[in-house]
Amino acid sequence: MLTLRFLGVGNAHATALGNASVVLERDGAPVLLVDCGPMVPDAYRERYAGRIPEAIFITHNHLDHIGGLEPLFYRIACGELPVRPVRLYLPAAIIERLHEQLGNDPMRLAEGGVNFWDCFHLVPVGDHFWHAGLMFDVFAVQHHAYRSAFGLGLKRVFLYSGDTRPIPEVLAHYAVNGETVFHDCAFRGNPSHTGLDDLARFYSGEQRRRLVLYHYESDLAGEHMRACGYRVARAGEGFDLGEKGGAELPKSA
Ligand SMILES: [Zn+2]
Repeated sequence: MLTLRFLGVGNAHATALGNASVVLERDGAPVLLVDCGPMVPDAYRERYAGRIPEAIFITHNHLDHIGGLEPLFYRIACGELPVRPVRLYLPAAIIERLHEQLGNDPMRLAEGGVNFWDCFHLVPVGDHFWHAGLMFDVFAVQHHAYRSAFGLGLKRVFLYSGDTRPIPEVLAHYAVNGETVFHDCAFRGNPSHTGLDDLARFYSGEQRRRLVLYHYESDLAGEHMRACGYRVARAGEGFDLGEKGGAELPKSA
């Protein structure tokens, strides 16, 4: 059984709701963390008995999505060693900037001697990547600069939009087999993010029935969106996605 669990559902300013982040679980065990804002390592540790994530996919470079990588580096570099370096799946287009943001300083610790990338196993990602026997799709979304933010999909299972304005062209390609669509949406949209008004303008009724909204501004905004008939994720909430799906490894592999 696959489940998508929200560690946080807030926008960058809604810290009471946690940084928007999800964990794909298989039979209750964490498989892949998506995004790692400053509040995420503690939320992950609390949810999964003190563990460090084994694998992370990052959607884009904004601080509420990557700010937790630095404390993870600190915990690993200062002795809280995971079994293996944390696998860090990064869309190739965002790697250079992320390296500038987090990896370029050789003196992160006064003693030096540790590279940021010693603690993470970088896996550059194009349109697809394999993890835990599942093949994920990666696609550009609309969040400011061209190809600066990406979403994640698992065919026949789910689509996770990441931060974005409406992306009907993406849903028309990656979410045509009944996928549950986890979508950025606040009660009031802005040039960076989807708002409630946008949903009816850009998506069909059938698509809207498959939406689960997250990345909103307050509990009250969440209640307003529920009152309008939408499913709206809460921090800590998990959404069951069925027994299996996506492109899986052939049995002989
Ligand atoms: Zn963002």
